[in-house]
Amino acid sequence: MTKLATILIVEDDERIRNYIKTVLTSCGYSVLETGNAKTALSMTASHSPDLMLLDLGLPDRDGQEILKELRQWTKMPVIVISARGLERDKVLALDNGADDYITKPFGTEELLARIRAALRHGKLRQGGEKTVYSGNGLCVDTERRLVTVDGQNVHLTQIEYKIVTLLCQNAGKVLTHDFMIREVWGPFSNCDTQLLRVNMANIRRKIEKDPTMPEYILTEIGVGYRMIEMD
Ligand code: CA
Repeated sequence: MTKLATILIVEDDERIRNYIKTVLTSCGYSVLETGNAKTALSMTASHSPDLMLLDLGLPDRDGQEILKELRQWTKMPVIVISARGLERDKVLALDNGADDYITKPFGTEELLARIRAALRHGKLRQGGEKTVYSGNGLCVDTERRLVTVDGQNVHLTQIEYKIVTLLCQNAGKVLTHDFMIREVWGPFSNCDTQLLRVNMANIRRKIEKDPTMPEYILTEIGVGYRMIEMD
């Protein structure tokens, strides 16, 4: 078996930590674990894990602070573990540099998919950008500026195209409304989430088979949008 990534689990709830550990170990990942922020930071420095799973509610320090501190010196992918319904926490965590979040209680498959996507992004960050993204019939070729669904050309406006490529470059990962607006319209625009929503509706009409049941671009309610995982 080839050696898979090393994952650091930072979670003070022992039951959840053990559950994650069992899942990851049985998949072949190497696992490091701790229940507090202090050890999390020192383990990151000493063991250079490939990814961190970070619970936001820790006994000694707030997870958001840890994120900010980590981002001053490492690009290691971080997936935040958050409680259900705390959308503001998720948005803040993403803005503080988290790569993704997963909401408790979560299933094994969801956890593993999130980890695979985050590890892939970590590698991409080191190895440069791809130009062709495809998945489930949707194909986006940024070199030829071509978008097709099941082989059929799709005509997107300049803004729609920017939104789609931004999502493709971050496929599998949730992007916040603010982040998308900043990336697409620029940091000084006064575009609001309403304009983003209008554009998203137009994109979905063009690429989704049923725009009310999107298969490609998923809505993360109160947070942002996520493109499905792509090859
Ligand atoms: Ca906790």
